[in-house]
Amino acid sequence: MDNAKNFYIDGKWVAPAKARDFDVIDPSTEEVAEVISLGDQADTDAAVAAAKRAFQTWGWTDPAERIAALERLLKAYEARAEDMAQAISTEMGAPIDWSREQQVTSGTWHLKGMIRAAKAMEWDRPFSDRNADERLIYEPIGVAALITPWNWPMNQIMLKVAPALAAGCTMVLKPSEIAPLSGIVFAEIVDAADLPSGVFNMVNGDGPGVGSQLSAHPDVDVVSFTGSTRAGRLISIAAADTIKRVSLELGGKGANLIFADADEKAVARGANRCFNNSGQSCNAPTRMMVERSRYAEAVEIAAKAAEARAVGPASETGGHIGPVVSETQYEKIQALIQKGIDEGARLVAGGPGRPQGLNRGYFVRPTVFADVTPDMTIYREEIFGPVLSILPFEGEEHAIEMANDTPYGLTNYIQTTDQEKLRRVARRLRSGMVETNSKGFAQGSPFGGYKQSGNGREGGSFGLHEFLEVKAVSGWG
Ligand code: NAD
Repeated sequence: MDNAKNFYIDGKWVAPAKARDFDVIDPSTEEVAEVISLGDQADTDAAVAAAKRAFQTWGWTDPAERIAALERLLKAYEARAEDMAQAISTEMGAPIDWSREQQVTSGTWHLKGMIRAAKAMEWDRPFSDRNADERLIYEPIGVAALITPWNWPMNQIMLKVAPALAAGCTMVLKPSEIAPLSGIVFAEIVDAADLPSGVFNMVNGDGPGVGSQLSAHPDVDVVSFTGSTRAGRLISIAAADTIKRVSLELGGKGANLIFADADEKAVARGANRCFNNSGQSCNAPTRMMVERSRYAEAVEIAAKAAEARAVGPASETGGHIGPVVSETQYEKIQALIQKGIDEGARLVAGGPGRPQGLNRGYFVRPTVFADVTPDMTIYREEIFGPVLSILPFEGEEHAIEMANDTPYGLTNYIQTTDQEKLRRVARRLRSGMVETNSKGFAQGSPFGGYKQSGNGREGGSFGLHEFLEVKAVSGWG
């Protein structure tokens, strides 16, 4: 990869101020796939300075000009779709078909959604019919720092870059150092989209380095972060001194409430949804709660689904799941599986160690625990691996109480054929999203969490507003 060790600053690929090599490991093989550079304060400062300069013009552009730039970005992104799929597959272990069909296309989906939202946006309007001479003007916040994780790299990058561009912000992107290859391809795509120099900058680096330098930087006006609750807390603290806005999309521990009247396929669907992306989705339905009368049957179906779910290298085509992203994640997941056993959950599928025949690579067995109780670690902590917990509930109130019994509040799930019950329960769940009966969300729908799952919303007009200030002007006439 030509630009592996470079950063994209002020419209050019540049070498780091001081070289600091970092190995990117292919999780399917445990081999070094690429060597990148980690940036430091001088690189962060150069990127922020370029963004600050560019804001003086980009911040005042007509929205139509920015929408045209987004449309060029879409073309450039689609032209590099296969390179992007390969990069994601190598860096984080997404099987190539999944990478092409889910990972890469999530970026396209959000970019198209942002183009629609930007076209529909009223950038400048009267406050109300009664106060028509007061004007509301929506303006970009300024320089944005965009810090992203490794699990859905293009989903996360596009959910930040597209609204920041649409709003008129300039930006510095810091992709995850664990999965930086897609970020490098992305910066090449932005370069091809021909934006003014300095509008988009990309610096690789780790959390304690470039991540915290951006969070504390006096010339950064907003930080948009997706990642762990742990890092979100540190970023908020680092950002507090300069009163910059911080938008957080953090972890989750979604409940999937399966009522006795749910459709036949709800359990298998829920289990597979938990295993998709090797369990590395913040909105994964990891706590399956089943109404008592169908509990035993559900445990059996979920165990079968786990046994049937193939695991294999990311380079192979097919519907299998790949490895988890890193040795650290592998060890963390193994320790949590062991903890589940030690704390008395009933292991009904999978378990510790690698799947048969896979002796190398960070492969985890799709695992199901039954009879999980709310005091167990696997019920409470985000595992971020293909590990499902199942437990019974006695009725609607009990289900709601358990679903809400978590510091997280990102996505919960309801499976029932009773529409009245669905609405009653959906209203009571404390989460930013409630997905029912596998009905997907619309393009531009708000993505984000309650409680410790975060404080922002991404996607469409909701995501656009995260990068906007609103100015009120009286006596506009
Ligand atoms: P992470 O928090 O370790 O890292 C995410 C990003 O933050 C990386 O770029 C990292 O370098 C950076 N970072 C780490 N510490 C930092 C610090 N102190 N200051 C500034 N930046 C810092 O998370 P991860 O392991 O890459 O991703 C997994 C987590 O992300 C999971 O908890 C998952 O639930 C969450 N996630 C949330 C969403 C959502 O939208 N809610 C989406 C995807 C992932």
